[in-house]
Amino acid sequence: MDRPLLNRRLAEFGTTIFAEMSALAVRTGSINLGQGFPDADGPEEVREAAVRALRDGRGNQYPPGPGIPELRTAVAAHQERFYGHRGLSYDPDTEVLVTAGATEAIAATLLALLEPDDEVIALEPYYDSYAACIAMAGARRVPVTLRPDPEAGSYRLDLDELRDAVTDRTRLLLLNTPHNPTGTVLSAGELAEIARLAVERDLLVVTDEVYEHLVFEGEHLPLASFPGMRERTVTISSAGKTFSFTGWKVGWVTAPAELVTAVRAAKQFLTYVSAGPFQYAVAEALALPDSYYSGLREDLRTKRDVLARGLSDAGFRVYAPSGTYFITTDIRPLGHDDGFAFCRALPERAGVVAIPNAVFYDHKDEGAPYVRFAFCKGVDVLREAADRLQKL
Ligand SMILES: *Cc1c(COP(=O)(O)O)cnc(C)c1O
Repeated sequence: MDRPLLNRRLAEFGTTIFAEMSALAVRTGSINLGQGFPDADGPEEVREAAVRALRDGRGNQYPPGPGIPELRTAVAAHQERFYGHRGLSYDPDTEVLVTAGATEAIAATLLALLEPDDEVIALEPYYDSYAACIAMAGARRVPVTLRPDPEAGSYRLDLDELRDAVTDRTRLLLLNTPHNPTGTVLSAGELAEIARLAVERDLLVVTDEVYEHLVFEGEHLPLASFPGMRERTVTISSAGKTFSFTGWKVGWVTAPAELVTAVRAAKQFLTYVSAGPFQYAVAEALALPDSYYSGLREDLRTKRDVLARGLSDAGFRVYAPSGTYFITTDIRPLGHDDGFAFCRALPERAGVVAIPNAVFYDHKDEGAPYVRFAFCKGVDVLREAADRLQKL
């Protein structure tokens, strides 16, 4: 066979850096701050809820296609509780769809809404599944680059560049706030401007808000709550990051009924359904008191500060995130400018694993000197990593 096995839509996505770096972490006994998963599981009572569901025979067979009613009701109640004051609410029966994590929600949404050759504008650097899913849909990605502002210590969206990126072929904007990997939280002003643009150019908007409860500065504002947006916006979130159960893969879409119906058409042939008993547990998790959500945020804020201080002391230029559990650093003050080479050598040099931001870019040059560290780990683990990095 002289034809490559992997089709040409996916050829560029053949290997992920996460597998390489996690293997390197194991081989060298390094602290793995590469992949973003917590090193402690979520609340005991939520785990117990999953056990109870399994034992009681709830969810052990195919759950309903749109998700169990208890979870759809809990998702709608969560939206009302946190965003109702902004006028946002959803009907649990027609406007909520449960998915296999945010990952399936993204895939199903893009496969449902895109025609071949449609253009999709996404904020670069981007979460790796965006590019792959746009490619699977046969559409074209158009990156708009978030740029670091060393003075401010944060990344900025250039709204003029976003406006200029819209063409007659643009079908949708794919946004992510709080943003992985840069930690950017889009401001009310930026979101209002994005909303105006979407309305003016009649664009669909897909917004990945899996870090909605991990905002350290400012507040999370759902894009769907801006004028003219609810009717054109698919909002995606998940239990993975909010409840520290990334292995459960329970996510959801909230959107107007026509959009949910479209997304469901694709979703039913990807997984059909998933995570039956876990859906019952996540329904209970969403109803946890406000103190759970604020406790999670404060815990991660402390961890952010510990790691940011350690990285800064070690000589990195630190872009302290306003949200998410990632810190982006600039390695040039340490005398390096190639994040790939730096990350491949870091385990041997310092016993720590990080991810080169270039993997999240189409414009590899823009991301070359930046490296991402995850801080969703125990404080003692972060302190140890910080100590190890001081030898750089
Ligand atoms: C982790 C993550 C996801 C995937 O969420 P799952 O629920 O685990 O599928 C999607 N988007 C972003 C930005 C993420 O960081």
